[in-house]
Amino acid sequence: MVIVAKARELERVRQLFHALADETRLRIIDRLLGGEQCVCDLTDRLEAGQSRLSFHLKTLKEAGLVTDEQMAGVEELTGHPRVVAVGETGFDFYRDKWPRDVQEDVFVRHVDLAHRAGLPLVVHTRDAAETTLSVLAERACELRVILHCFSLPSRLDEVVERGYYLSFAGNVTYEKASELHEAARAVPAHLLLLETDAPWLTPAPLRGRPNRPALVAKVYGFVAALRSISVEDLAAQVATNAGHAFPRLAEQLGSGK
Ligand SMILES: [Zn+2]
Repeated sequence: MVIVAKARELERVRQLFHALADETRLRIIDRLLGGEQCVCDLTDRLEAGQSRLSFHLKTLKEAGLVTDEQMAGVEELTGHPRVVAVGETGFDFYRDKWPRDVQEDVFVRHVDLAHRAGLPLVVHTRDAAETTLSVLAERACELRVILHCFSLPSRLDEVVERGYYLSFAGNVTYEKASELHEAARAVPAHLLLLETDAPWLTPAPLRGRPNRPALVAKVYGFVAALRSISVEDLAAQVATNAGHAFPRLAEQLGSGK
C-alpha cells in the first residue's frame, strides 16, 4: 500500500502516525514530507499490523528519481518492528510509463536496502521477466525473495531452483490461466504463498467486481483443489511459509502483538 500524499494531507498523515509512532518516527515522516510530494507507505499497513516499504512508481513520475535523502528516510523506517519486508518493488514494462533506467535504479536501491535491513524483498514484475530475474540473480542471492502476484509460469523451474517464494493471487482462479494452474499445482509446498492483492485481481466467479481481502478464501479453495489437498492443510502450509518468508511477521504473531 503506497500513499502519495500532497502537502495539504500532511496533517492527516501526521495524526495517523501520531497514534502509532514515537517521536523518532514522526521526525522521519516529517523529513519525507519535506517536499511538495511525499511518500508515505505506512499508514494503512501499520494500522493493519504490518507494512512493506517502497517508493511507488507513480511517485517517480511526479517527483523524478528517488534521492539519497529519501532512501535514508526509508532506511530508518525499516527498523520499525511492523515493517516486515521491502517492496513491492520491481519492473513494470507492461505500462512502461517510466523510463527503464529509472525503474532499475529504484529496484536496485530497494534490493540493497533489503540486504542492509535484513528484510525480505517483495517483487513486482510485469512483462519484465528477463530483466527482473537477471537483476535478482546479480544482486539478491542471499535475500528471501517473494514473487508477488506470481506471473512467471514459464520460468517456474528457475525460480524454484533459486528458492523464491511464489505468491499466487486471484488471477490463478481464472479459467484461461492454465499455465498458472500448472505452476500452482507444481510449486513445492514450502515455497507456496497465496495473497489477495485487493482491490485488484478479484478471484472467479466474482471477477469484474472490486476485490477484498476476505475473497482470498476463493483462492485457497481453488489452489487446494488443484493440489488435491484440504483447504485446512493448505492454509496451515501457507501460514508456515509466510512465517519463514517474513520472519518479523512470525515474531509478531508469535508474541501476539
Ligand atoms: Zn504488484
